[in-house]
Amino acid sequence: MKLSHRITHLTGGGSDGWDVFNRARAMIAAGETVTELTIGEHDIRTDPAILKAMHASAMGGHTGYAMVPGTGALRDTVAARIAARTGVPTSRANVLITPGGQAGLFATHHAACGEGDTALFIDPYYATYPGTIRAVGALPHAVTARAEDAFQPRAAAIDMAAAETGAKSLLVNSPNNPTGVVYAPETLGAIAEVCVRRDLWLISDEVYDTQVWEGTHLSPRALPGMAERTLVVGSMSKSHAMTGSRIGWVVGPPEAIANLILLATHTTYGVPGFVQDAAIFALGEGAALEERIAAPFARRRALAADILAGQNAVGAVPSQGAMYLMLDIRATGMSGEGFANALLDAHRIAVMPGESFGRAAAGHIRVAMTIADEEFAAALTTLCRFAASRAEAAR
Ligand code: PMP
Repeated sequence: MKLSHRITHLTGGGSDGWDVFNRARAMIAAGETVTELTIGEHDIRTDPAILKAMHASAMGGHTGYAMVPGTGALRDTVAARIAARTGVPTSRANVLITPGGQAGLFATHHAACGEGDTALFIDPYYATYPGTIRAVGALPHAVTARAEDAFQPRAAAIDMAAAETGAKSLLVNSPNNPTGVVYAPETLGAIAEVCVRRDLWLISDEVYDTQVWEGTHLSPRALPGMAERTLVVGSMSKSHAMTGSRIGWVVGPPEAIANLILLATHTTYGVPGFVQDAAIFALGEGAALEERIAAPFARRRALAADILAGQNAVGAVPSQGAMYLMLDIRATGMSGEGFANALLDAHRIAVMPGESFGRAAAGHIRVAMTIADEEFAAALTTLCRFAASRAEAAR
């Protein structure tokens, strides 16, 4: 049977960017030992206290259909959290609970873009972005953030792309996956002005908002005139090590949320009540729990800074947030993909090629700081030595 064009073209043809990852997983399945620095999965599990709250809720009977928009209690908790963090008045009517940030990305693009409309996003990008945009029938259009600008996007480039394509939305992500860059207030201010001038929805993916190592996270929803045109995507995957629980939210204007609730009724039909109760408990633990979960990445970032300072074959993109390091390996004369494959073959260390995240990160690799400190430091040291030998050979 013939499948729809939309589903068979979701990844836009070609590689989906996960080739090195899949090779590493196949090696592991075949019994080999591989050091995996690929995906954004913590090396700790969900805190037992959160699981206890989940268990208590389920045992207490919260196993039926939950309210589709999210329980009133969790929507209020999220609204209070967002209001406290951003200063923007936020209530239950501004919040939809979703099964993770990914569902929020899909829903927000559905809300912003009609069939055939253009949706802008910044390259380098999180691997699912173009496919998510295609999934709602819109056309993904990348705007490059350049390595020489430390991957801060230029508002003028966004403005030009918006004017050329008549785009309906712009997706930004700060702290950024894959670059680890936190957008400067000036960058976000200029982007907000473009959104107002070109009448764009701003979809702000803030799933790494508790992982900020340098500077401060600014939610663009807090900028003048932006609350009415910003849809914030949030998640507890990264902040609370709850990736498998599938719990997140969209925050936006009440009319958008009301329509997104209708979308949820016809797609997910909500999020399990016991997961929502666990989320209320976890958010109630406050900043202390979030800091404990972010701490290993801060530690490994410091270890990495020492290792990288002692060599010159690998350039580091300033790591300001999120659980990743973006490394420039152009001195080796190799592509990110070539380097990642060769490193996997030679040392059984798996990293993501920059090309998996778009053209702008070509000649780079992304290293996830998601393994134990000593092992992480050893792998990064090996990686740097490998790069040095390749750079030497390329000279
Ligand atoms: N946005 C970004 C930038 C991500 O890195 C991820 C997960 N890696 C997501 C959204 C989606 O996360 P989740 O669905 O687990 O909330």
